[in-house]
Amino acid sequence: MTFSASIITLYPDMFPGSLGQSLAGRALERGDWSCEAIPLRDFGDGKHANVDDTPAGGGAGMVLRADVLSQAIDSVIQPEDTRPRLLMSPRGKPLTQKRVREFAAGDGVVIVCGRFEGVDQRVIDARNLEEVSIGDYILSGGEVAATVLLDAIVRLLPGVMGNDASGTHESFENDLLEHPHYTRPAVWEGQTIPEVLTSGNHKKIAEWQQEQSEALTKSRRPDLMAKRQKTLDKD
Ligand code: SAH
Repeated sequence: MTFSASIITLYPDMFPGSLGQSLAGRALERGDWSCEAIPLRDFGDGKHANVDDTPAGGGAGMVLRADVLSQAIDSVIQPEDTRPRLLMSPRGKPLTQKRVREFAAGDGVVIVCGRFEGVDQRVIDARNLEEVSIGDYILSGGEVAATVLLDAIVRLLPGVMGNDASGTHESFENDLLEHPHYTRPAVWEGQTIPEVLTSGNHKKIAEWQQEQSEALTKSRRPDLMAKRQKTLDKD
């Protein structure tokens, strides 16, 4: 079964967007995954296809209506559909490579893209939406966040990445940041490449890369290093 993404959005033209290019785009063309954008406006209320209203209790901005959004969600989710139902949201659990791997191992995802101030809480509760954040900052809508999530997932789907091994050495696997990379020319602006990398000694190279990874993670991401230590202690 191919991985299928259904995205509920006020801006369906944003999809596949950048996911139609490069690695994800070629995978889409091959049918390794599918991307369906459901226009929320189609479920809007009345002559003006209204989708939002002012927040109960007052305050700035608008909120996506529960009745409109639930109809859109229900139109997508068939009874046997077990795909996770996600809402892109800065209040959600921050996305991790581990969660991305879990999504990539499944049949697909249903993604709701918020806009304005967000969505009516009742629809989040009633449709059991998992809130997913892509970081501690505010975007103007969930579409870019959904694109980030899908990009991270699609590259992990079987057959998508040219060199499958490159997926297992990357930053965040084993809670480490990746070591530095070098390529030709051998000397650039007077700078050479670390000698060990041109030694041909694979064991030494692997040790050097591991040391570099650990040193980088220690200095830049002490939080990751602490997490890694915890996991190592457990094993
Ligand atoms: N008022 C909200 C922010 C709304 S931003 C708050 O303070 O929490 C509008 C929409 O953009 C959100 O509903 C969500 O779908 C999306 N969005 C904004 N920032 C995001 C982030 N960091 N991660 C995921 N989605 C985000």
